[in-house]
Amino acid sequence: MRVYISADMEGVAGITAWEQVETIGGVEYARSQRLMTAEVNAAIRGALEAGATSVTVNDAHGRMRNIPPEDLHPGAQLISGAPKKLGMMEGIDRGFAVACFIGYHARAGSPGVLAHTYSDVVHRLEVNGQEMGELGLNALLAGYFGVTVVLVSGDQVLAGEARQILEGVEAVIVKEAVNFHAARSLPPRLAREKIRQGLVRALSRKSFQPLAAPAPATVTIKFNDPARAAAAAILPRSRFLDAVTVTYTGADYLEAYQAARSLIALAKSS
Ligand SMILES: [Zn+2]
Repeated sequence: MRVYISADMEGVAGITAWEQVETIGGVEYARSQRLMTAEVNAAIRGALEAGATSVTVNDAHGRMRNIPPEDLHPGAQLISGAPKKLGMMEGIDRGFAVACFIGYHARAGSPGVLAHTYSDVVHRLEVNGQEMGELGLNALLAGYFGVTVVLVSGDQVLAGEARQILEGVEAVIVKEAVNFHAARSLPPRLAREKIRQGLVRALSRKSFQPLAAPAPATVTIKFNDPARAAAAAILPRSRFLDAVTVTYTGADYLEAYQAARSLIALAKSS
């Protein structure tokens, strides 16, 4: 049983501010690296306890070099660095039994801690008309490869998002969002224990049902201003819906996922 872990940072217990998760200039960043790595290690321990034969961790935050390789549990392999073709889901393939999302945050416009969708240039994102954040986008990509997301960890808003789209998911709440920049957090040690136990429960499930990835798949992104949208619309085959909204239809979900990330990267670069 191969287990895949995508690890972000904003949803880790104790983290509430950009300064804590930004590599450059973040005075508290080194501490956040330790908090993130400890939650990932708790997930690895849970997976191994539950019978995983191999665990792959993809560092999925920012420049994707947050987990110090020497501090990762030796029972797992680490994918780090960027850019990566599949970004937050690099390394996923049909051979994984399940996937887990650790340290995830809620989608743009929701009341979660540091809620956003890939970038603060994104106001709202939809896949085939359904609003999604990073959780939904990445869970659909797991589904495209036939892999079920069985556990997510983050705040209660992220947990609500997960329960809406992932039947039977273990949603581990490590902090209660008070607002965008404030949270009532579990002590990190307790958060890690809940993640480990959650993994053991999640992997003891009798059956897994991956999300059905749509084909064709349309991503529609409303940006924060027309200049961002104009830059995004440079992507071939994308279309303007209005001054701030750009849409792209892919023959399959993988193409739409790549397009969404490309649209956002172009918008960010403007
Ligand atoms: Zn992040």
